Amino acid sequence: MRTKIVAGNWKMNNDLSASINLISEIKNSSIGKNFKTKIILCPPFTSLETANALLKGTKISLGAQNMYYEENGAYTGEISAKMLKSVGCEFVIIGHSERRTIFEESDEIINLKLKAALKNNLKPIFCIGETLEEREKDKTFDVIRRQVIDGLKDLSESEIQNIIFAYEPVWAIGTGKNATPYQAQEVHKFIRDLLQKEYSTYLSDNIIIQYGGSVKPDNASELMAQPDIDGALVGGACLRSDSFIKIVESAE
Ligand code: PEP
Repeated sequence: MRTKIVAGNWKMNNDLSASINLISEIKNSSIGKNFKTKIILCPPFTSLETANALLKGTKISLGAQNMYYEENGAYTGEISAKMLKSVGCEFVIIGHSERRTIFEESDEIINLKLKAALKNNLKPIFCIGETLEEREKDKTFDVIRRQVIDGLKDLSESEIQNIIFAYEPVWAIGTGKNATPYQAQEVHKFIRDLLQKEYSTYLSDNIIIQYGGSVKPDNASELMAQPDIDGALVGGACLRSDSFIKIVESAE
């Protein structure tokens, strides 16, 4: 039985005081206590250290939204995996579609980032997903296959076991237009079958695959009830404690 994981990607939202307020509301709610669902909060870099202190003693984990693949050096503006570890991160989002499109991150760069995260014991939340144009041209499975194969290049099965996959159709992110449970389940099953073919049944049965793309309190239960959907990566709806809490409750 796979654990359900709900992660909140705050994106470039919430300064330090807003972060403190949101974390306090979440950790003081029922979900901060005895929930089976694993909860991960991914605030901006500037709030990570404080978030780590606030989350100590709770079952809520901390993640970052991005990292660079080099360990240190002349990379102005970048943050390494070791730096994220030093402020208490256990997880890091890699390959989010906003990174792929706005910051032009290729599958090759994402592969380097996955390797660097894993080498430093950070668990990646590895995002994959097709654009609307790719879906309309019937390219969804080709794109997903390429992103998975190229993203995981040269990683061993035991390393891949530490990755959380997040299927996020680009056309559903921040648009209010979620994939239907059927559309999402179809791609999740495809990813699981691909992992079985490329690696093993064990990996395919145990890997966590979250869905992301306009997950809200009113669609979360139906999406997460699908057999191959193991939770959600939530953007917009994680910025208010009441909607994030409702989404986590629907995963239980
Ligand atoms: C995301 O940014 O990963 C995301 C899924 O955003 P939203 O929930 O706002 O679509």
